[in-house]
Amino acid sequence: TAVDAPAAIRTTCPYCGVGCGVLATPDGRGGLDIKGDPDHPANKGRLCSKGSALGETLAREGRLLAPQIGERTASWDDALDLVADRFRRTIAEHGPDSVAFYVSGQLLTEDYYVANKLMKGFIGSANIDTNSRLCMASSVAGHKRAFGTDTVPGQYEDLEEADLIVLVGSNLAWCHPVLFQRIVAAKAARPGMKVINVDPRVTATSDLADLHLDIAPGGDVALFNALLVALADGGQVDADYVARHVDGFDAALAQARADDADATGLSPEKLSEFLRLWTGTRKVVTIYSQGVNQARNGTDKVNAILNCHLATGRIGRPGMGPFSVTGQPNAMGGREVGGLANMLACHLDLENAEHRAAVKTFWDAPTIPDAPGAKAVDMFRKVGNGQIKAIWIMCTNPAVSMPDAGDVRAALRGCDFVVVSDMFGDTDTAKLAHVRLPATGWAEKDGTVTNSERRISRQRGMLPPPGQARHDWDVLSDVGRRMGWPRAFDYASPAEIFREYAAMTQLSVDFGKDLDLTPLAELSDSQFDAMAPVSWPLRPDGAAQRFFADGGFFTDTGRARMLPVSGALPRDMRDGAAPFRLNTGRVRDHWHTMSRTGMAPKLSQHLAEPYVEIHPADMARLNLRPADIATIEANGQPVLLRVMPSTKVKPGAVFAPIHWTDQVASSAIVSRLTTKDTDPFSGQPDSKGAAVSIRKF
Ligand code: SF4
Repeated sequence: TAVDAPAAIRTTCPYCGVGCGVLATPDGRGGLDIKGDPDHPANKGRLCSKGSALGETLAREGRLLAPQIGERTASWDDALDLVADRFRRTIAEHGPDSVAFYVSGQLLTEDYYVANKLMKGFIGSANIDTNSRLCMASSVAGHKRAFGTDTVPGQYEDLEEADLIVLVGSNLAWCHPVLFQRIVAAKAARPGMKVINVDPRVTATSDLADLHLDIAPGGDVALFNALLVALADGGQVDADYVARHVDGFDAALAQARADDADATGLSPEKLSEFLRLWTGTRKVVTIYSQGVNQARNGTDKVNAILNCHLATGRIGRPGMGPFSVTGQPNAMGGREVGGLANMLACHLDLENAEHRAAVKTFWDAPTIPDAPGAKAVDMFRKVGNGQIKAIWIMCTNPAVSMPDAGDVRAALRGCDFVVVSDMFGDTDTAKLAHVRLPATGWAEKDGTVTNSERRISRQRGMLPPPGQARHDWDVLSDVGRRMGWPRAFDYASPAEIFREYAAMTQLSVDFGKDLDLTPLAELSDSQFDAMAPVSWPLRPDGAAQRFFADGGFFTDTGRARMLPVSGALPRDMRDGAAPFRLNTGRVRDHWHTMSRTGMAPKLSQHLAEPYVEIHPADMARLNLRPADIATIEANGQPVLLRVMPSTKVKPGAVFAPIHWTDQVASSAIVSRLTTKDTDPFSGQPDSKGAAVSIRKF
């Protein structure tokens, strides 16, 4: 009867940065029926294929059910004593920078907060970095350079209110499907709305576009510099906004004028159509994602986009603004609590002595490091050369996902002490660990995540942890206590941690930064339990709030900074030295290394096996036929992929998805091929630009 029907529990999808609300109803058999939450502002009831299949990913098969030391099952006490002891001894012998945490944009904010506090405040190193470094670090760096803080100015509603949406380096249709659906619906309701897709490859997103710009890899800076010149020459600069709120206009424009639009690789017709649409439309939102971020000049790409919005005052107003969409569910929450090697919590700056002192006092911490720690690529390089001797990896699988993944495996194999916390004991990374700790996962964990529009939502625990699995915040706190800091890590619940974090945002307010959650610092446990999605900055009526329409930037001067950025391509991308250029990305129905989505058979029906898209002209040259196996090689490592002919990639370029790991007798780990070249400002690796060779297997 209706009276007996179990109540649906409101929670949040654990996959992408859209942060869709989910209604999960216990089915009475240990599972969950899944629906989109019609009341969640991010998705208003929609879910994509991955979110809809969450109920099929709850099996206990493969779950790590008890701690393991080497191959033997151990008690939690023995395992955590060992972890605390090895970290303590390593620090005593080699200093705090000899240890590291590598964490994940899938951790909840409370897990992230405790990990960051333990490493930066108590161990005394900034060696905590995250797989979000591979995802949006260039956006963070670009935002900080332009705005003074890592602030996303807009709200999802802007995508529906815009008259022109420019999607740069984003296959939104597959990677953020519900946002894409919102744009599709808005365009259907207002057919005058235009969409431009800037991507070297034709994707499912291009189907919606009025204009597809098949830009040359790395050509985005030149494109937006050409736009800045067109805006200036067409009298489109908002001189009043620039005069009141922006520095650096002249230098940015002079650099833009010095650039050569040929670097875009676009036909004159396509380029002028882009310029005509952008300059002729007031309400423009520019969405950017991994095609922008994952590049050696990723931060400059971000600033080239921000320059155009700042010059025209098209920022922070309804239907206008630059919009970074993050790949992961809690990349934003992790940023907010400082879970990157070059940041402090609450958007404070590691290089600022006053900020460090305030954080130290707030935590009553023995120390705060005054230098950045190792960013992801450097972290594993230091593991490889022995500078980092103990590493704790949480909720992520770097043996598959890091660039030059074969080298990362070798580094972990040679490391003195590797701890892995994960739901599964047989991931490629977990197999390399000395200690494996069973972690709770989605449907068991409890806490908060922040999506790409700064909206904090609850993930709620609905199922009991299997076996002896424990929450990451709880295990981190336990290790903190065992290492000698019982008072600082005396947490009993995620609500307690959230309150401490919300109270800590007072520091952000005190230093004139953007992040203010102080009204949430007094939430009772039951109020935290019932907390509805809320976006910051908080307003009493809960309405969406944007930043920067009237200035108010978080730099020392209160003014934004336009940056002179050069569109010249790096030499090796100019001279055509590479036989082929490898572009990487996601498929529609899988997530990261498939440890969860691989459990739902229907999610493998769309694309069932690893593949590489190659242009037919290149196939003919290489004597390849459809469905042949090709050996793709870089970094001295061969990867075998099935050949998919495609005119969606240009000759000389190939595309392969990132999800698959080792097959029966070969490797399909595409990250073995990608480059460790990183952006100089963000440290984000160039996952889209590896030079590879291809031959028939
Ligand atoms: Fe989950 Fe993203 Fe799909 Fe929403 S769009 S259901 S958050 S994967």
